Amino acid sequence: MAAGKERKYLVSVHGGHSGQYCCHAQDTLDEVVQAYARYGFNWVVISEHIPPQTDAFLYPDEIEAGLDSKAMYQRFAAYLDHCRRLQRQFLDMKILVAMETETCGNYLSWITRLRSEFCPDLVVGAVHHVDDIAFDYGPEQYRQAVDKCGGLEKLYCRYFDLQHAMIEGLKPQVVAHFDLIRIFDPGYSKTISAEPVRRRWLRNLELVADLGLVLDYNVSSLRKGAAEPYPTMPICRRARELGIIMAPGDDSHSVATVGVGIKRGIKLLEKAGFGDSWKNPPLIDEVIENRGPGQPVITGSERKFL
Ligand SMILES: [Zn+2]
Ligand SMILES: [Zn+2]
Repeated sequence: MAAGKERKYLVSVHGGHSGQYCCHAQDTLDEVVQAYARYGFNWVVISEHIPPQTDAFLYPDEIEAGLDSKAMYQRFAAYLDHCRRLQRQFLDMKILVAMETETCGNYLSWITRLRSEFCPDLVVGAVHHVDDIAFDYGPEQYRQAVDKCGGLEKLYCRYFDLQHAMIEGLKPQVVAHFDLIRIFDPGYSKTISAEPVRRRWLRNLELVADLGLVLDYNVSSLRKGAAEPYPTMPICRRARELGIIMAPGDDSHSVATVGVGIKRGIKLLEKAGFGDSWKNPPLIDEVIENRGPGQPVITGSERKFL
């Protein structure tokens, strides 16, 4: 992202993955956070993927890097400590520390445990697996997930059912890339409007509204050449009717992807009638208020590890 002359209000509700703590990201966490500060972001939610519960859920790139679930757990603990140090360092830019969920295996008990162990400021609720297949890893995995579910529409239904269970079970403050399931479906507009699918995402949005959660307007799709961020416009329109707050998230995975698409995302949000509600979602504000600058935080070394 090029640094603009005009001082804009900039936020990211989901981003900050780094090569230091994520195998499919690049650069160090310091470099990534410095990039946000350089562009003048007002607040950012730094999120990292949770470690897998068992080795069975390692991604191929993690296995290749010689990591197992124990090493991933330790790396995640180091990530949290690192973020807490950065929070104390960057006082002009509010940093919120988050963990991004997975929905494989016994994820509810695993994430509940990680949450009480690490006490992140926020949980970013994401679904990257359907029936334990990481459907967003590549077109081949996506195809496998379609086959396992018995068709594209059924895959969407299964995804939104899983998402509903995840939201209900974890009540994550931020719900990430709401309709990620369309990632490798070029005809997604049609699939998303099929009645069984539509009924499910409408139900999920109502749950998000009831719980007062924030939706991630995930612009990462724009840098990959897609026409619009997640979620797609018909979902955005319904979210607005329900009074849901949607905030832009760049889902950055390197210095080069920090802030990419955020300004366009903000314009799209404003055009869709969200006004500037994304600037200070009460839920995010509350976390910032409660923490306050310089407030002592518990570091990993003071915590009891598994
Ligand atoms: Zn990632
Ligand atoms: Zn994600």
